[in-house]
Amino acid sequence: MATKRWLIVGAGFSGSVLAERISTVLGHEVDLIDKRNHIAGNAHDYQCAGVFVGPYGPHIFHTNSDRVWNYLSKFTEWTPYRHTVKAAVPRGLVHLPFNLESLRLALPSRRDILNALLAHRENSGAHSITVHRLLQSTSLCLRWFGGWLKENLYSGYSQKQWGEAYLDQMLDSVWSRVPVRISEETSYFLDKYQAQPKLGYTYLFHRLLESSSISVFCNKAFSQNMLKGYHRCVFTGPLDAYFDFCEGQLPYRSAVFTIRESSRIVKAPVVNFNDQKVPFTRISDFVQISGGSPKSGNLLCFEKPVEYVRQKNEPYWPVLTEDSQRVSGLYRKRALKESKTLFSGRLGQFRYYNMDQVILSALSLFDRIREEEV
Ligand code: FAD
Repeated sequence: MATKRWLIVGAGFSGSVLAERISTVLGHEVDLIDKRNHIAGNAHDYQCAGVFVGPYGPHIFHTNSDRVWNYLSKFTEWTPYRHTVKAAVPRGLVHLPFNLESLRLALPSRRDILNALLAHRENSGAHSITVHRLLQSTSLCLRWFGGWLKENLYSGYSQKQWGEAYLDQMLDSVWSRVPVRISEETSYFLDKYQAQPKLGYTYLFHRLLESSSISVFCNKAFSQNMLKGYHRCVFTGPLDAYFDFCEGQLPYRSAVFTIRESSRIVKAPVVNFNDQKVPFTRISDFVQISGGSPKSGNLLCFEKPVEYVRQKNEPYWPVLTEDSQRVSGLYRKRALKESKTLFSGRLGQFRYYNMDQVILSALSLFDRIREEEV
C-alpha cells in the first residue's frame, strides 16, 4: 500500500507537533513547509554566549496540562524557571500581578485599601480579585483602587499593545480581567509546570522533527496548487490568507523587537511600561530568562507593538473584537467544508493561544485525525 503524504504548512508548535504525531504514530510521510528561513515559528530562539535569545520576543513555558508536559518532556529536558514581571509606576517598580507588596510601595498611605482587600479575602476565601471586579465593587476605596490600577498600569499599555484603532472595540478587554493578588505571591504564573527547555526551543523543535519521515522545507510559502499531490493538509498560517481574504481581512497586531546589549540594569526578567511617552510596552532581559541575574551588559529586548500590514510585517496577535469574531466565524464555516485541509494554531484558528494551549489543541486535533485514519 502506498504511504500517505501530508502537507503541513507552518513549522511552529502547531505544525511541528502534528508532523511528529502523524509521522510517528500513523507512519505517514510529512512535508513540513514554512515561509520563514527557520523552524520553531514564533518560539524560535538562538544561543548567544550561553543565553537563549528569542527574535520574536521572550517565550516562557507554563502549563497545568499533564498531557502537554509529558508530551514535551519526551523531546527536552527542563531548567526550572519561575517568571516574574514588574511594572513602572510613579513611585518605582511594582510586581505584576499587583500584590500586597506593590500596594505598600505604590500607595503607602492607603491602609483603607489594604484593609478592604484583606476583608474581601477573609469573606470570599479568594486570594485574588480582578480589576474588573474592583471597578464594580460597592466599596468606594476599592472602586477608586480599580481606577488607579487602570490608569497607572494598564490603560497606556493596552493603548500601545492594541493601537487606537482597536482599543474601544476590544472584547472584554484584557486588562480588566487581570488579577490583583491579595497576598505576597510574586510569580507571574501559578501553573503546576513552569520551566524553560534546557537547550532552548529551537533544539526542542529539532528533536520533534528528527523522524526520517518528516521533510522540512524552509523559505517555502504555501499556494493552493501544492495540495494536489497530498493525501491531506494541515494549515497553521493565517485563516483569512488561506481563503484569499474572500470574507475580508482579519485584524492582527504586529511588533518590532529590538534586541541589543545594554548597560541598563533591568530589575526583573520583564518590565512593563504603561507610560505613553515610552514607545515600547516592555523590556525583557534574556540573561535573566535564561537563568542569570540582573547586571549591566545584558541582552535586552525592547518590544514595540505596531500596526499589522500584510506582506510588510508578521501577524503576531489576533485582535479579538465583535467584528473580527463574526468574520472569523465566516472563515471557520468555509474551513469545515474543506475536503483535504484541517486548520490549527494561533493563526489557523484565529485564537489567542499560549504555547501549551496550541500544543494541547494540536494533540486534540491529532486524536481526531487518528480516529479518521485508522
Ligand atoms: P506560529 O508559531 O506563529 O507558527 C506558524 C508558522 O506558520 C510561522 O512560522 C509562519 O512563518 C508559518 N506560515 C504562516 N503562513 C505561511 C504560509 N502561507 N506558508 C508557509 N508558512 C507559513 N506563549 C507562551 O506560552 N508563553 C509566552 O511567553 C509567549 N510569549 C509570546 C510573545 C509574543 C511576542 C508572541 C507573539 C507570542 C507569544 N506566545 C507565548 C504565544 C506563542 O508564540 C504561540 O502560542 C505559538 O507560537 C503559536 O504556535 P503556532 O504554531 O500556532 O504559530
